[in-house]
Amino acid sequence: MPSMTTSKVSRWDQHGREHVVHVRKSGVRRQLSCATCDWCRAVQFLPWLKAEEHLAEAHQATVDPTAA
Ligand SMILES: [Zn+2]
Repeated sequence: MPSMTTSKVSRWDQHGREHVVHVRKSGVRRQLSCATCDWCRAVQFLPWLKAEEHLAEAHQATVDPTAA
């Protein structure tokens, strides 16, 4: 599980390209912004899950570079 201090979620696609969604704290919400496209969203719950969903759906990036 990602820690609460994680400030970004990065995934690689099948071509080895890295896609990053940055997570910024904004009051009780987290502001998500994708570095690859212009997607951004404010979410209150499970920001990392939302980031992973975006990376998978928009960029087919599902490989976690931090996984052993
Ligand atoms: Zn994106």
